[in-house]
Amino acid sequence: MPTFEIHDEAWYPWILGGLFALSLVTYWACDRITAPYGRHVKRGWGPAWGVRECWIVMESPALWAMVLFYSMGEQKLGRVPLILLRLHQVHYFNRVLIYPMRMKVRGKGMPIIVAACAFAFNILNSYVQARWLSNYGSYPDSWLTSPKFILGATLFGLGFLGNFWSDSYLFSLRADEDDRSYKIPKAGLFKFITCPNYFSEMVEWLGWAIMTWSPAGLAFFIYTIANLAPRAVSNHQWYLSKFNDYPKERRILIPFVY
Ligand code: NDP
Repeated sequence: MPTFEIHDEAWYPWILGGLFALSLVTYWACDRITAPYGRHVKRGWGPAWGVRECWIVMESPALWAMVLFYSMGEQKLGRVPLILLRLHQVHYFNRVLIYPMRMKVRGKGMPIIVAACAFAFNILNSYVQARWLSNYGSYPDSWLTSPKFILGATLFGLGFLGNFWSDSYLFSLRADEDDRSYKIPKAGLFKFITCPNYFSEMVEWLGWAIMTWSPAGLAFFIYTIANLAPRAVSNHQWYLSKFNDYPKERRILIPFVY
């Protein structure tokens, strides 16, 4: 690992606070305008690039920027920070390198402005998470047997599996890369809610917030809700408008609740 150092004591709290503030702005914006990608893609958002390529590039900072910022921390060789970094990398190894390869989206595009916003967010969030893990947080080895770590890691693991399974199931609804159809998902948690992939992603980052017990983790969890909850509402309305037989009792995002 490279051994650069940064002295950001004066501005780290401001950037962390900025991530909380960005959640409010994101919720406000996403509640009014559904990000134009996937089923909600629209003309008028400027040039587009391949969906797969966009996902790889826009999410990639969570791998490379995370390691870069992490490597600048004084506790970068600490046992617990390294374990937390590895868990983060498991999620993003899937999101950056595996998930895009499994999508069935040949010929589809995403507006570059959407990918650029996600890319910028991932740099910001990687900075906030990484600097906390390897520099500002304090994690003795005993943290690994604490109830917070065990509960958080369990939620993180369950959330990851639920998210991976939900995305995989959605992919399985299309016959091949050229199939552009949408079908009503009917298995697993889809029986109860429209967006189990978003729900499990939120559980995952709740687990992250608990196992890191940090303002950085909390900020990312809140941001995830701010980003995904309005989109889940849009997805639910989209299904209701496209399919007359869409199950009316199905909730949007949280089983039996919402
Ligand atoms: P979607 O559920 O909209 O789409 C996931 C994939 O499944 C896409 O390839 C989509 O194709 C396909 N698909 C969706 N519904 C159907 C259907 N009914 N029939 C056939 N194929 C379908 O998820 P997103 O694209 O919004 O998000 C992808 C992942 O990224 C999720 O796991 C989500 O949790 C995560 N994410 C996390 C964020 C965060 O803030 N942490 C932010 C955004 C996403 P198509 O593209 O053609 O619609």
